[in-house]
Amino acid sequence: MELKTIDEILDKVKNIIKSAPSVARDDSTVLPKNIPALPQWATSLPDGPLPLDRSIERLTANVLPYLNASSLSSRYYGFVTGGVTPAAFVGDVLTTIYDQNVAVHLPAETIATDVEVAALNMLVDLFQLPKQDWGAGTDGNSGGIFTTGATASNVLGLALGREYVLSEAAKRATGKAMSVGEHGLLAVAQAAQVDQVKILSTLPHSSVAKAASIVGLGRSSIVSILQEGTDLAIDVEKLQDLGEDAEAQRTAYILAISAGEVNTGHFASDSADMMKQVREICDKYGIWIHVDGAFGFFGRVLIGHKQSQDYQHITAGTRGLEFADSITADGHKLLNVPYDCGIFFTRHKNLSFNTFQNGNAAYLAGVGASLVQDPLNTGLENSRRFRALPVYATLSAYGREGYCDMLIRQVGLARRLAAWIYEHEKYELLPARLGKDEALAKTFIIVLFRAKEDAVNEKLVKMIKNSGKMYVSGTSWDGKPAARIAISNWRVDVEADGTIVEEVLESVLR
Ligand SMILES: *Cc1c(COP(=O)(O)O)cnc(C)c1O
Repeated sequence: MELKTIDEILDKVKNIIKSAPSVARDDSTVLPKNIPALPQWATSLPDGPLPLDRSIERLTANVLPYLNASSLSSRYYGFVTGGVTPAAFVGDVLTTIYDQNVAVHLPAETIATDVEVAALNMLVDLFQLPKQDWGAGTDGNSGGIFTTGATASNVLGLALGREYVLSEAAKRATGKAMSVGEHGLLAVAQAAQVDQVKILSTLPHSSVAKAASIVGLGRSSIVSILQEGTDLAIDVEKLQDLGEDAEAQRTAYILAISAGEVNTGHFASDSADMMKQVREICDKYGIWIHVDGAFGFFGRVLIGHKQSQDYQHITAGTRGLEFADSITADGHKLLNVPYDCGIFFTRHKNLSFNTFQNGNAAYLAGVGASLVQDPLNTGLENSRRFRALPVYATLSAYGREGYCDMLIRQVGLARRLAAWIYEHEKYELLPARLGKDEALAKTFIIVLFRAKEDAVNEKLVKMIKNSGKMYVSGTSWDGKPAARIAISNWRVDVEADGTIVEEVLESVLR
């Protein structure tokens, strides 16, 4: 293997991206054309070692031309992919260069865990969560950790919820403390006289069902408490009724709140008052509240903004979420740090240790008395990437104003497009039952729509992708295909992007 300095390696990277189509292409086309199969020689393990330049050829010839523009384009509107801010980019390159293993708090050896705590607390600030309840590295019962994404954070939330609802039920039934982490799901459930743990929600993201499966509750444990006549709202009376009947039904409950539903971007709660009421009910019946706010939690960034009247529906949907027990948000979506990065907060640090403690391997012991939790006792992994660094870098660079400005441009473009689609005779903005003003006021960063003519609608997503100028995800709404524009890149330019999107949507009708 040739020895190379960091400098020499970075020079190579610079040369590659000069000619890499997906970078040079930038905004011109969002999808590569005609992706071939990898040639046989490029899939086999060489006898090697090869000079670095030769191995780079494999990348430049066979891989880079066939990657999509995702983060590089402001008009890649699929999923909710976000982008990479310049400061996050620098942070991520440095993460690779320094390659810290952020598993144990070793403050005399690396400042990495302190940076993770600082980055989490900057997010607590950005999200305007009350500091007495939320944060990391405090002497209270609040804790947090960076994960690989919202799915992983939902797994942590449901794992802690499971620990909480079952250990509380066991305490009520036997007067003794038991822990799922220690004694196992089956033993605690039996002692608690609980036959099932149900997850109450309204249109939860598919990853909540996945998380339910992973933590042993099962995908079918999800029960809808959708308020009739609404698309997403929690039926608070139903929650109360179920709670009241929980013991008789030998059932324990976790409430999973959709704070930003993935098709519409709308919110399951509508006010701090509603959340207060929900919290009271859940306290009364020992129900854990988990918030899935992968992208929607960023609505809280706009609370108190000088133009806040424009964002009232969004901020109302996120107010009161601080009453939750655990919170999921994503870093690789609206925070615009690179994959992969998820955010998790809880107000029950003690339960994190019950659930995620990594035994007591002596060589892994951190500084016991510190307020900083060892990540290996707080989340899924032992060895971990220094994911906090890009987050720390981007928050330090842009601050609250930078993120407000970014969000306002994203919401601005979403609303411009929603209005255009609403007025267009051949398109329909979804959900269809909302009037124009309400539909626009509720628009966050996602625009859900379809073509009115079925024959066009069937091919709509494909035709939009074929334009090469923008990318959308297809989904289904009310049993029919629909298209979804999710605006999440920091590069968004309301005028320039809006004009191009409208041209594309006009052209596919011809
Ligand atoms: C994207 C998303 C997820 C899954 O997030 P990953 O980061 O892809 O794991 C979960 N919930 C919601 C609401 C989402 O939008």
